[in-house]
Amino acid sequence: MKDINLKINGINIIAKENDTVFKTCIENGIDIPNLCYHPDLDIKYGTSCRLCLVEIEGIRGLSTSCSTKVTEGMSVLTHSDEVLINRKTILELLIENHPLDCLTCEKDGRCKLQDYCHEYGVKGPIFDTVENEISEDDIDDSNEFYIKDDSKCILCGLCVRACSELQVIDAIGFVNRSSDKKVSPAFGKRLSESPCVSCGTCVSLCPVNSLIPKNKKKIRAMDINKTVITTCSYCGVGCQLKLLIKGDEVVGVEPSYSITNKDLLCVKGKFAYGFINHKDRLKTPLIKKDGIFIESTWNEAYELIINKITETKKEFGNGALAGLSSAKVTNEENYLFQKMVRAYFGNNNVDHCARLCHASTVAGLATTLGSGAMTNSNQEIIDSDVIFITGSNTTETHPVLGAFVKQAKNKGAKLIVADPRKIPLAFKSDVYLPLKPGTNVTLFNGMMNVIIEENLQDTEYIKAHTENYDELIKIMKTYTPEYTGKICGVEPELIRKAARTYAEGTKASILYSMGVTQHATGTQGVMSLSNLALLCGNIGKESAGINPLRGQNNVQGACDMGALPGDYPGYQKVFEVKNKNKFSQAWNQKLSDKAGLTVTEIINDSGTGKIKFLYIMGENPMISDPDINHVQDALNKTDFLVVQDIFLTETAMFADVVLPATSFAEKDGTFTNSERRVQRVRKAVNAVGESKPDWVILMEIMNRLGMKEIYNSPEEIFDELAPLTPQYAGINYDRIEKEGLQWPCTDLNHNGTKFLHSTNPARGKGLFKPADYLESDECTDSEYPYILTTGRILYHYHTRTMTGKIEGLNNLFSSSFMEIHPTTANRLDIKDGEMVKAISRRGELITKASVTEDIQEDVLFIPFHFADGAANYLTNTALDPIAKIPELKVAAIRLEKLNPEV
Ligand code: SF4
Repeated sequence: MKDINLKINGINIIAKENDTVFKTCIENGIDIPNLCYHPDLDIKYGTSCRLCLVEIEGIRGLSTSCSTKVTEGMSVLTHSDEVLINRKTILELLIENHPLDCLTCEKDGRCKLQDYCHEYGVKGPIFDTVENEISEDDIDDSNEFYIKDDSKCILCGLCVRACSELQVIDAIGFVNRSSDKKVSPAFGKRLSESPCVSCGTCVSLCPVNSLIPKNKKKIRAMDINKTVITTCSYCGVGCQLKLLIKGDEVVGVEPSYSITNKDLLCVKGKFAYGFINHKDRLKTPLIKKDGIFIESTWNEAYELIINKITETKKEFGNGALAGLSSAKVTNEENYLFQKMVRAYFGNNNVDHCARLCHASTVAGLATTLGSGAMTNSNQEIIDSDVIFITGSNTTETHPVLGAFVKQAKNKGAKLIVADPRKIPLAFKSDVYLPLKPGTNVTLFNGMMNVIIEENLQDTEYIKAHTENYDELIKIMKTYTPEYTGKICGVEPELIRKAARTYAEGTKASILYSMGVTQHATGTQGVMSLSNLALLCGNIGKESAGINPLRGQNNVQGACDMGALPGDYPGYQKVFEVKNKNKFSQAWNQKLSDKAGLTVTEIINDSGTGKIKFLYIMGENPMISDPDINHVQDALNKTDFLVVQDIFLTETAMFADVVLPATSFAEKDGTFTNSERRVQRVRKAVNAVGESKPDWVILMEIMNRLGMKEIYNSPEEIFDELAPLTPQYAGINYDRIEKEGLQWPCTDLNHNGTKFLHSTNPARGKGLFKPADYLESDECTDSEYPYILTTGRILYHYHTRTMTGKIEGLNNLFSSSFMEIHPTTANRLDIKDGEMVKAISRRGELITKASVTEDIQEDVLFIPFHFADGAANYLTNTALDPIAKIPELKVAAIRLEKLNPEV
């Protein structure tokens, strides 16, 4: 791009050819007023506010700088007398229709219109003919989280463009003409009748008070005494957000512009912060006496726990203790938890819920590529030219990544979606593959068969960077689209089309999640996807790769920190003597080289009496684990159970001691998001009641068990863990202050890794690991004729420990439901909204029928979040033999229409 020399306000500036005057001003720190600019919105559609006008030498009149390109020798004045007079007139016209109720307006103090009026000396409307009072017709309060007030709208269009171009929802637009023009859902409907998903992007970008968050207390922008940038505590996207603090309370959230999420959040990040100060937060330790929880001091609770640990070790040996760490807490806390189990319980019986979501990813990708993490980065997805999404309802489970996928699609990317449910992205796809649950391996094999048969593979990449290709060719021969189609229920032509589309991409990205991993063949599913990526040379490339979308905010970090029974931090195997010696020396304790028990084994052994002492931090197996009746039985039989959490969860009810922890907003630390980016978590408010950060609780317990180290801050823990964890060795708090670093970051001069395997796969060569299709553990039969599959919805998170406390989310979805195809529903005479009973070999539940064509006939879907009608009463505990992940995605069930009297 050619350099262009120009003068702005008499200063010599070098701009790039095709840049606008506006962009050049912004980039050179020259103040240029605007009400409709956003860095990620195409500037060519700007010009709606006209405030950015400038005077250009030799051009008659004034020009809007956002629509004027720089030219060689141009001379621009941004604040000449003529410009100032005209800007003032524009502002006077804008407030002609704007109620001047600044004294009661929530935006007072942070309103761009107010700021500019102040700057340009606008005192009020200059005509007195225009109606500027608020009428009831102007207000739409039908959304659970925000109000639309048309009387305040200045028609800048930022909300409309953000909804359309950034979140790609198109819930609102301009309706009517001239003086009746306004922002509204189509046909003047209310927001509750529109496709709005309450992401709140429009609310965050509105420069005035036309889009206002609903808040029970009256909060003006000027009351906010502090804003703290931190990392969202919901999903693995890891959005950066600003907590708005009034006094010592979080009263709002705004996106913090970052490389991770740009300026986007979803409904949970934006509006679901009310759990932080919720009245039900645990405030003191609780000890159960005669079946009733009694408030205790920290000292009493600690003494009881320490005595139990000591007694259990003495009487039953170290193997009788176990702990479940947490994908919700920080890296530092996960590191301390596994240190406690390994160094002070004396075994490796530590695991966490990654076992239930991506254990097969860690096992599969480590085998084929040498690293079990997302290969590429969030923002790279926007530039992919093909995106293959399988087993991930991305717009609901990772909403901001879902928006990036839609942005890529708008830029021309081809989209392939494989899912048993017609998920929202399926409607936008170029190829939709409605496969039967449990048939992933055969579908991926079918696609590879087509690619090999039609010679679409990347032969050069295969020769240079892979091994075991002959085996792949041999096994794929059988999987013709016709053969594959019979098993997975997809038309052979669609399989061909998907294969060709994927292979023709120059930057083809695979996104997958638990629809692939939560099977008894989960590891084979992951390795088959890896085969597909290697076959087409989509590894080690920007905007391509194979990308497991990790579920919870810090599930990646919990794995990295060694909250796994076979791995020290950094996936260093416990059975290797050199690793044992390294950690033994660092912690000054004897360690075991025997791999510990997994989540499911710990629960089993708690039920059989082998595990006597169980410590659960921030997990809720009573909702999240398969076969809840079995979990309940096991927890009932556990001799001594400690639960550390922020609320009295369904699992905490079974505890002997409950320890109150702080939420993410009340502590410092780091989370590692799905794209391997280590980001800061920052304390914004003080701890509720006597609750303590998890790291303080763990340290105080370990100190009582003999640990000498006293950590004064999470940073000191990070400084201990980083040199012990090769991928984190170059990371420290100073380096991640601004925007985090992506591992591997191996020394202080390393700038982190945007995408993995750039020269070669981490294991040297990419390994093809082809597998034949195996049936799911539990197939349908005459007694259990339907397949149940489970998943998540946009409006709740995991076991609802946090989202279940948010009124707006509960108003939208407060209890479980079951999606049923109309044909299945008709056969059983079930109507939409009726209650049904679902029964599997393990348990039963009652839930509400939601009849929809978006699910296949005889396949049923229940979101697993809800305690009432919990899907996991029905799910199967059959395990993947390699990763030991349960087959949560396929269970055979029977369905009964419930008697109206029941
Ligand atoms: Fe939080 Fe995930 Fe939503 Fe981002 S997409 S705001 S990380 S829940």
